[in-house]
Order: sequence, then C-alpha cells, then structure tokens
Amino acid sequence: MSENDVVLMIEDELAIRRFLKPSLESHKFKVIEAVTGEEGLALAASHKPDVVLLDLGLPDMDGLEVIRRLREWSEVQIIVLTARGKEKDKVAGLEAGADDYLTKPFDMGELIARVKVALRHAQRLKQGTEESLFETPDFTVDLSARIVKVKGKEVHLTPNEYDLLVLLIRYAGKVVTQKHILKEIWGPYSDDQTQYLRLYIHQLRQKLETNPNRPKYIVTEPGVGYRLKYE
Ligand code: CA
Repeated sequence: MSENDVVLMIEDELAIRRFLKPSLESHKFKVIEAVTGEEGLALAASHKPDVVLLDLGLPDMDGLEVIRRLREWSEVQIIVLTARGKEKDKVAGLEAGADDYLTKPFDMGELIARVKVALRHAQRLKQGTEESLFETPDFTVDLSARIVKVKGKEVHLTPNEYDLLVLLIRYAGKVVTQKHILKEIWGPYSDDQTQYLRLYIHQLRQKLETNPNRPKYIVTEPGVGYRLKYE
C-alpha cells in the first residue's frame, strides 16, 4: 500500500464523516468527501479513488444507482455502508456491483481491515497474479498442488469442498454471496442447492477449524453469504 491510496467517502451524515475521516487519515489514506450521489460520481471521475465508501441512503439518489453508474466505467473497490439488519440492502448492493459492505455502527479496526483487503484485492486483479500458497496460522492451501494442510498435516477435501475453499480464498477477506457461490460451484439454476452449500461449509469447518462450532476463518454473514477471514 502506498501513502497515496485515496478513499472517497460518499455519505450525507456529517457525524459519520467526522468519525471515519480521522481514523482513515491516521492510516495514511487520503480522504475525499461527497455528501450526494452526484457529487460522489463527479469526484470519482475526477480523483480516481482506490476505494469508495458508499452510504446507500443519499439525499439525491439511491446508493444502488451510484454503484450502477460507477460500474459503467470503473472497477474501483466499493464498500457499502449499511445499517444493522439490512441484509436485503447488502445483497442488493453486492449484486449491483459493490465489493463488500460494513455495518453501522462501525468498528474502526474492521473498517481499516476491509479497506486494506479491498486494496489488496484490487492489486491482485491489476497484476493478474494469484498467489499459489494461501497461509493462515492454522492451515495452508497449496493451490498449484491442491494440497491442504491443517497444522502441518495433510487433510483430504472432496472436490466440491476444495472448489468452495478456493473460491473463498480468491475473495479472501471479502464477503461472497450465497448466490455467487452456488453459481460458481454448481452452475446456473442452482438456487435450490443451499442446503448442500451449508453442508459443505459445515464439512470445511470440521476439517479446517480448531473449533468448528465457533469458526475463526469461515464465518457466516447472516442473510448474505460467507467470508474467509483473513488478515
Ligand atoms: Ca444517509
């Protein structure tokens, strides 16, 4: 990450902007602010930010409209800011083209982590490189040899379990919607496979997590999907 990473905050609530800006700046981000959708779109075009933090409830237009219009010309990382319990908004934001979301009230550590994950993901996309070894303190995945080790010992995953894990790794740190996973692993018309997805998630946790009932890595995003926690 360079010192020049620019975060565009599109948020009409002054209190939230006042809260987020100093924390982002203390992590060396340059912060620019917009209070309406139109202003946000104009600043995105003129400043080419690296990450956009977007409130969905803006005074002049729906945040989803901002996402759609940004996506017409930009691949900037978009993190939607939503209220707790608004699962439908989160899913709609992701389907419109957002990359991730954060739930208000924000945990600053979480916000910074998400922004960094987004930047890292953008970097990987730009370079077109995928790392061949994914490592956590508890397990490793050798993506070229297809070998998964938990605390140094190789474990066997079924092809579906492995594909699911690789998909989560590809979006490490970011949420992946249930719909997206179903489509990638089981193909289109697979909306009715959710019980299998839950089963594979359960199996992966049994194999990879120290405490499968309180997963540290493969976490559920209620009503949305799953996230492979990754620092
Ligand atoms: Ca608002």
